[in-house]
Amino acid sequence: MDLQEVLNDIRTEVLDAGLKGSLPDYIPELANIDPEKFGMHLQTLDGRSFSFGDSQEKFSIQSISKVFTLVKAFQYKGSILWDRVGVEPSGDPFNSLQQLEFESGIPRNPLINAGALLTADILVSELKNPKLDFLEFVRSLAGSREVYYNEKVAYSELSCSHRNAAMVNLMKSFGNIQNDVNLVLDFYCHACSIEMSCTELAKAFLVFSNHGKLPHDQQQILSVSDTKRINSIMHACGFYDEVGMFSYRVGLPGKSGVGGGIVAIHPSDYSVAVWAPELNGKGNSVKGMMALELLTTKTGYSIF
Ligand code: GLN
Repeated sequence: MDLQEVLNDIRTEVLDAGLKGSLPDYIPELANIDPEKFGMHLQTLDGRSFSFGDSQEKFSIQSISKVFTLVKAFQYKGSILWDRVGVEPSGDPFNSLQQLEFESGIPRNPLINAGALLTADILVSELKNPKLDFLEFVRSLAGSREVYYNEKVAYSELSCSHRNAAMVNLMKSFGNIQNDVNLVLDFYCHACSIEMSCTELAKAFLVFSNHGKLPHDQQQILSVSDTKRINSIMHACGFYDEVGMFSYRVGLPGKSGVGGGIVAIHPSDYSVAVWAPELNGKGNSVKGMMALELLTTKTGYSIF
C-alpha cells in the first residue's frame, strides 16, 4: 500500500468534510492560532516517513506533554508512582475538580490535568534544574535540539491558571503535593507550552512503538514492560472523557492536546502525529480525529 497516497486522500477527505470546532480561548495565546492549519506526519520504525500540509510547523503540544512528564516521573519512581496517581479513565473533562475531592487528592490518571500536575510535582522534586532538564529529556526523545518552551504561552496560561491552581492546592491539602504550589504550576505550564511539529512529535513517540528503545541511538529508556504500561495508559486515558470514542474510531493508543495536536502509535510499526487547531467540546482536534480514523480505516490496520 502506498502510504503517501493514503495520507493525500486523508487530507482531501478531511478538508472536504468541512468540519468546524473552536479554539481554546481560555489560554489567550492559543486563541490566536490560524484555525486552518492542518498537517500530518507518519514515521515508521523501519525509517520511512510520509506527511502533508503543515507537518513541519511547530505548535503548542499542551497535554501531549503529559506523556513526557509521566515517563520521566515513572523512570524516577517506578511502581510507587501508583500510590499517588491512578491508571483509570476519568470519564470527566481534563480539568475537572470533582473526582479529586471524592478520591482524596489522588488523581484518576496521569494524563488529565490533576495527574500531570502530580507528575510535575515529582519532577520539581527530582530534577536538579527542572525546566532545563525536562526540556533536555524531550529533546533526547525527539532526537533534536530544536525543541523549546514558548514563554509567552507558558505565562499566558499561568496568568489564568485558576482551575489548575485549585487542583494543586486541593492535592496539597490531602498531602499529595510536596512542593510550593506556584513552582508546580510554573513547571506544568512550561511543559504544556513546549512547541513541536508533527514530524518532531512522531519521532519523539516512536520510542513507544519501539518497546522503549530510542530508534535514533538504541538507548533503552524504558523497559519493554514499562513501555507496555505507558501505552496502556495512553489507550485508557489519553483523550479524557472521549477516550472510548477515540478508541472506537481509531483503535490506537495516543494522546491529544488543546493545541490541536494528536499523536498515536502502532506498537512495532509506526507513530503518527496530526495537527489541526479546531477542537470539539471535549478538547480534541476535530480534523485530527477524523484523519486518524481514516488512517486506520483505509489501511485496515489498528491494534485490533
Ligand atoms: N495547558 C492546558 C491546561 O492545563 C492543557 C490541557 C489540554 O491540552 N487538554 O488546561
